[in-house]
Amino acid sequence: MRHIIEALQKLSRNLWWSWDTEAKELFKELSPLVWERVNHNPVELLRHISQDELKARLDCEFGKKLESVKKRFEEYLTAKDTWAAKNAPSLTEKTVAYFSAEFGIHESVRIYSGGLGVLSGDHIKSASDLGLKFVGITLFYKEGYFHQCLNQDGWQLEDYPLQYPESLPLEKVTDPDGKDLIISLDIAQNEVFAQAWYLNVGRAKLYLLDTNIPANESHYRDICSRVYGGDQNMRINQEIVLGIGGIKLLDALGIDPAVYHMNEGHSAFLTTELLARELAKGAEFEEAKEKVRQQCVFTTHTPVAAGHDRFSRDMMHYTLDRYLQKSGIAFDDFLRLGTEDPSNLHGLFTMTVLALRLSRNANGVSKLHGQVSREMWQHIYATASPDDVPIGHITNGVHTASWSSGFTEKFWRRYTDSLDTLTASQDEAMKVLAKVSDEELWCLRYRLKRSLIDFIYRYLSNQLFHQHVYTTYLEADSSKSSKNPLSPDVLTIGFARRFATYKRAPLIFSDIDRLTRIINHPTMPVQIIFAGKAHPHDDAGKHYIQQIVEHTRLPQFKGKIIFLENYNLGVAKRMISGVDVWLNNPVRPMEASGTSGQKTALHGGLNFSIPDGWWPEAFNGENGWSIGSGEQFENHEAQNHHDAEKLYDVLENQIIPTFYDRNVDNIPVKWLKKVREAIATIGPVYNTHRMVKDYTLKYYLTD
Ligand SMILES: *Cc1c(COP(=O)(O)O)cnc(C)c1O
Repeated sequence: MRHIIEALQKLSRNLWWSWDTEAKELFKELSPLVWERVNHNPVELLRHISQDELKARLDCEFGKKLESVKKRFEEYLTAKDTWAAKNAPSLTEKTVAYFSAEFGIHESVRIYSGGLGVLSGDHIKSASDLGLKFVGITLFYKEGYFHQCLNQDGWQLEDYPLQYPESLPLEKVTDPDGKDLIISLDIAQNEVFAQAWYLNVGRAKLYLLDTNIPANESHYRDICSRVYGGDQNMRINQEIVLGIGGIKLLDALGIDPAVYHMNEGHSAFLTTELLARELAKGAEFEEAKEKVRQQCVFTTHTPVAAGHDRFSRDMMHYTLDRYLQKSGIAFDDFLRLGTEDPSNLHGLFTMTVLALRLSRNANGVSKLHGQVSREMWQHIYATASPDDVPIGHITNGVHTASWSSGFTEKFWRRYTDSLDTLTASQDEAMKVLAKVSDEELWCLRYRLKRSLIDFIYRYLSNQLFHQHVYTTYLEADSSKSSKNPLSPDVLTIGFARRFATYKRAPLIFSDIDRLTRIINHPTMPVQIIFAGKAHPHDDAGKHYIQQIVEHTRLPQFKGKIIFLENYNLGVAKRMISGVDVWLNNPVRPMEASGTSGQKTALHGGLNFSIPDGWWPEAFNGENGWSIGSGEQFENHEAQNHHDAEKLYDVLENQIIPTFYDRNVDNIPVKWLKKVREAIATIGPVYNTHRMVKDYTLKYYLTD
């Protein structure tokens, strides 16, 4: 009995469980209800269940299952024959240190906001799976990112529930005497202290710096309150803790990384601390710069101007001058590293520019984004042509095991030993697919869609239960649940992501009459599920949410177009596995990569997207649909009009007829051909195993 509880506790303290279907099921089985209530958090679950109750649950079946999970977990932690051992042995000895302001590992650990965080989370998981010696560095945000609810007018309200370290699998970093390890930082005229936690993510460790300690004034404690919270001043403070604090932490831990990877410019101050260290060792400024450059790798993530942090000279001076003086770095020398035009040091200091100038490698996150980034930053390098700008690309991917629903994984395991085989190569995928009949594949689609619809009803009634006033259609239909209009027979489109305006969430509502006919077609109807959060300061994004919510209340759309509150990793996983079509309609080329569409493939979902981000690379004419061919207009109205027309055209003339074209057994044979094509071409390429291998071979390894 005791050893069983200990085993469960041990499992709960390594996020490996979050991408292992059976480990997850163990926790869920203990109490499906509590599991839901604690937001799928096993640490909380184990706290909620009494010893007696546990005893009653621990039957022989459960014990056997636990034994097998435990065995696999132990094998995973100690495996020696990893990809890295064969292909990058030096990086099984020396550490890759990966810095990111957010990590989306699981919905129960709320230290992420959107795609960037999900990418970091998937990156660290793959690094662990592949056997790299790898640490992540981020901040511990006690309020995380906000919880979204909508008021009666469809306006987004933000609520910041606290997350407590004791409710999470966080371990405190201590010094050799067992005391809390504290690092100190200079911010403005003050000394600011940070403690640190770590999360076990498989074999990797994710360190989280935390200024919320009594030694700090409340102003500085709040640095680690919210993901991307506060004003510019808060932002620069967060970035000092992340970058400079991160290096100090690694040093205190005795970790001497082989390479520092800056995932987005937020962490670029790490170069400053590295510079200070080289200067302290006696190097000249230029020499120190070169040494730092040789150790750093930088990934830029967006062509959107607001996505690049820029700080005024005054703010830089106020916040960093004392630190720079102590470090022996002249203020103007430092400004010259981050100012776009070094001959005008009164311009803004751009974190991306600092990162570009102090990295040996820089990359965008899709082929198209690489090209856009070379054009965007050409002036920094003053090259004759954008083609000569040394910014490459590594296209983003997703962590396959994390993004497969338990049902999907079990489905594929009927035909192959593991998902890794299915995603090993297109040929391997085709071999597996050859064993699957159309009936079986269609069955998978049905089951996943039913499961999504069931989830949506539970989710919406839960919203009601918690007194949230937003109630799409339930206001009218809650008393007659048998009249639930969502149906697994109906072509289901999903759209969910951050509500940044360039993503144009309401585009499909451009022509309401046309959409009304599409949704309510007598024999070929369509239903749409939306979700997504707008940044708390982004009123334009909130207006988009409001517009969509207002549309969901129109009589012709009620119950057929749904908006789900509080998009997060859990909701994302439900949506990407259940929908038939994943819609993405950003303004090209603003979507650096996008990853949500990559998550749908193994579930048999099809992408319908503007050829932006990863999609132009992946789309082959058969594995989904493109909205237009990348036509770009100066005028916003013209662009929106053009793209909306294309969207309707493809939807009406290709997607809908293909979906409803059935054989005598009511199976959409042509549709399933596309599904097969998507599974074979997307899964094997757009995954983080491939991505982390690319980073390792192209950028992390120096020999
Ligand atoms: C995958 C994911 C994203 C990224 O979505 P994009 O469409 O690539 O922007 C954002 N948020 C969550 C919760 C996700 O799971």
